[in-house]
Amino acid sequence: MSGFVFSEKPIQIERGTGPYLYTDDGTEYLDFGASYAVAPLGHSHPAVVDAVQTQVADLTYVQASYPTSVRTETYEKLATLAPGNIDKVWLCNSGTEANEAAMKFARSATGREKIVATKRGFHGRTLGALAMTWKQKYKKPFEPLAGGIEFVDYGDAEQLADAVDDETAAVFLEPVQGEGGIHPAPTGYLQAARDACDDAGAALVFDEIQTGVGRTGLLWASERAGVVPDILTTAKGIASGLPLGATLCKEWIAEDCGNHGSTFSGGPVVCAAANATLDTLVEEDLPANANRMGSYLTSHLRAEHGDDVREVRGLGLMLGIEVKRGANRLLKQLALREQFLALPAGRSVLRLLPPLTIDEEQADEALAALGEVL
Ligand SMILES: *Cc1c(COP(=O)(O)O)cnc(C)c1O
Repeated sequence: MSGFVFSEKPIQIERGTGPYLYTDDGTEYLDFGASYAVAPLGHSHPAVVDAVQTQVADLTYVQASYPTSVRTETYEKLATLAPGNIDKVWLCNSGTEANEAAMKFARSATGREKIVATKRGFHGRTLGALAMTWKQKYKKPFEPLAGGIEFVDYGDAEQLADAVDDETAAVFLEPVQGEGGIHPAPTGYLQAARDACDDAGAALVFDEIQTGVGRTGLLWASERAGVVPDILTTAKGIASGLPLGATLCKEWIAEDCGNHGSTFSGGPVVCAAANATLDTLVEEDLPANANRMGSYLTSHLRAEHGDDVREVRGLGLMLGIEVKRGANRLLKQLALREQFLALPAGRSVLRLLPPLTIDEEQADEALAALGEVL
């Protein structure tokens, strides 16, 4: 018997600590992919391990209609950390579910159907979020998907303003496109989206599933532009690898959100992991470290790169290295020869999403490994 959806890599991982992963025989890998940004504190951080072990023994699960202090704390923390006056929280189990909820809430609150999304965008794999995702390869075999989606070029404020009208329920944007190749929003773009939504009475949704919780050097990537959305979705590293997604909404969205639910919404164990993750993130000011280490890596990569590199871009510790040769081949060399793990973002971009805790020594280690293959 075997799994069948993923093509498995030739390295079997058994343990992790900090930014390192280990095989059974003790071979050490420096993990700068962090399994798609799910380990902001590094692997198996003691604060998270402790919180989870305590909580699983006290109460493993109770449905969300019974308040429990650990979940209330997660609601409060997220409401406090969210930008502006976003303080209504829906918890689910993944990024794609957070976006499904955002679609449903936006349609319910506006009474409208149309959704504007962006080319190269990625919002998840369920039939609603997938409909807002751009890549045809991910969508074709599964059609028909949710309807009413219109795509615009990412970064073109005028096109966006033209697409948003009084039939638009929501605009979905990543403040930095991740899967699409690490493309930060151009200056003024998020504000233009805010203005277009305000004019039309549509909900602005920022998908911060990959960019959130400190990844880009601020708690939320959209803070850099000073733009507050109506709905912010987040997931990935929020509970250090336990499955948690969140849809954070302004009052007017939550007020008229329709009927929604999920058996595992806000389970105590994942909430304990989230609380420990968010506390540590704030106490250790990890967004600032992401900013520092991101600048360090970027400046060295730009200064030292060879002919293979076309561009280095990104924000904080969400970095893309655009290469001339196939990214997957380089990633394989990095893993097998240099014991360095990273991710692709399309065919020509190496994507770095390391733990936000990395120090200069580990950054140097990464630069040395990258230097060997680039
Ligand atoms: C990963 C990701 C998702 C989907 O999250 P899952 O937990 O894999 O469902 C959605 N949007 C963005 C921007 C992502 O990076």
